[in-house]
Amino acid sequence: MVIPASDAQKDTLMHGLMMDTPLLISSIAEHAEKFHGDREIVSVTMDNPRHRYTMGEAVGRSRKLANALDKLGLATGDRVATIAWNDYRHLEIYYGVSGAGYVCHTINPRLFPEQLVFIINHAEDRWIFTDLMFVPLLEKLLPQIPKVEGFIVMTDEANMPETSLPNAVCYETLLAAESSQYQWPQLDERTASALCYTSGTTGDPKGVLYDHRSTVLHAYAGVAPDVLNLSSKDIVLPVVPLFHVNAWGIPYSTLMVGSKLVFPGPKMGDGEALYELLETEKVTVALGVPTVWLALLQYCEQSGQTLNALQRTVIGGAAVPRSMIEQFSKVHDVQAIQGWGMTEMSPLGTANTPKAGQEGFSDDQRFDLATKAGRGIFGCELRIVDDEGQELPWDGVAYGALQVRGPWICSDYFKLEGSAGSHSDDGWFNTGDVATIDPQGYMAITDRTKDVIKSGGEWISSIELENTAMGHPAVAEAAVIGVAHPKWTERPLLIVVAAEGQEIDKQALLGFFKGKVADWWIPNEVAVVTELPHTATGKIKKIELRKQFADYALPE
Ligand code: ADP
Repeated sequence: MVIPASDAQKDTLMHGLMMDTPLLISSIAEHAEKFHGDREIVSVTMDNPRHRYTMGEAVGRSRKLANALDKLGLATGDRVATIAWNDYRHLEIYYGVSGAGYVCHTINPRLFPEQLVFIINHAEDRWIFTDLMFVPLLEKLLPQIPKVEGFIVMTDEANMPETSLPNAVCYETLLAAESSQYQWPQLDERTASALCYTSGTTGDPKGVLYDHRSTVLHAYAGVAPDVLNLSSKDIVLPVVPLFHVNAWGIPYSTLMVGSKLVFPGPKMGDGEALYELLETEKVTVALGVPTVWLALLQYCEQSGQTLNALQRTVIGGAAVPRSMIEQFSKVHDVQAIQGWGMTEMSPLGTANTPKAGQEGFSDDQRFDLATKAGRGIFGCELRIVDDEGQELPWDGVAYGALQVRGPWICSDYFKLEGSAGSHSDDGWFNTGDVATIDPQGYMAITDRTKDVIKSGGEWISSIELENTAMGHPAVAEAAVIGVAHPKWTERPLLIVVAAEGQEIDKQALLGFFKGKVADWWIPNEVAVVTELPHTATGKIKKIELRKQFADYALPE
């Protein structure tokens, strides 16, 4: 607990004698150019299967871009959007836009058209950078986004399409006309730098507005050994999109330390393409949501390949099944590090790395621990509270609403100041997750508040049931939702997709839960589907499943 300084203390305050240099995103770029200028950045793009250049070139081009943006007549704080995959041009935009004092609004192209229209208008984006692939999409949205002044198509002159987009400019042509000399503005470190909207699973998407200070502090935290453990020796493949919470801070943390970057472009969900990139570029660290790794592991299994260079994968955004962690470790000798966070948290909150004292752990103990979301990172305080807001003990058993506080956690939402009701009276952010924290500080998410299954007044963790089901060899993907029950209010329904070439024996599958979870947690029924609905960021869309199974009657 931090106690605010009293008036008497303020009167006698003695400042330290340290320089007050601002923490700016442009300073990461300048550092990268000086110390890691020759480090390679490799990208798959829409117009080139393997583009290669250096970090120094990336920074030089981001300065050219900053020069070009200044000429568009933008004011500090104006929003400039991107709708693009992970590649080198998108990285240059990250630095060029934020570094010059504008706000880089990354848009998730997989959102529904009405959500895209909502966020472009809500953000008041003045210009939009777009990949070639999204030009037709933007053309369709055009009548509904009249305030956008122009579009910069991320390609070269040869591939520039015919388009009805007004003021459509070719990215390479724009850069070619500019000098790579540019004086980055010495902004206040609290100047807004980037904007990312939550996916809006409940109501309209909400904008999270990052600043230079929060971004730099978050990048420092990310590279630490017990978090992502990044150094200049690493080769990093962010499969997590640059439009999904700044790819978990990777564009900043890798340039801070000089890791080689490998961008997959549009090849994000393709197991074979990812395998090929991982192997040929000798990637040491790859980051993504569980569904992405499901595709990679399936490809490896079917083609009889193993991952040879990869050392660690960082998996987050949704609960990571134990079977995935085991497969990475046993088959590929890859350490799977689970992370937890949110758009509102920049996003890093916890990372699941081992602590001193765990050296003698058996495989079982290691995997059990790795299934948790991880332990708190310095800079992100955690607490769990009951319905009355009372703090609950860290005993690994008590579960409650998870709240966080720290310099890279949002204090409010963009243009919703004070109205979202997302913070406690004493200033902690309500994550909407339900969790336990054990005596060692490892936090485990049991559910999102709205996904909790309440049976006979007691909570059942859908995540733990899903995790157990995923351990069964016939199951490719699993989701558990609560369905109405006359006696118990709600009971769990297990919805599964069968693994390739497998049949689901419902009774055998339910029997598989025996001894693994409390008897009264075992789902009442299994529904087999060919596909589960996913959100734009690859998470299972429970809201859709609840609709689909709204009238489902459990057997007597
Ligand atoms: P959205 O909230 O729009 O779905 P986010 O990417 O911000 O997008 O999602 C954050 C949420 O994802 C968390 O609040 C949590 O429910 C879930 N999540 C993230 N990481 C994990 C994890 N390791 N285990 C369980 N849930 C996770």
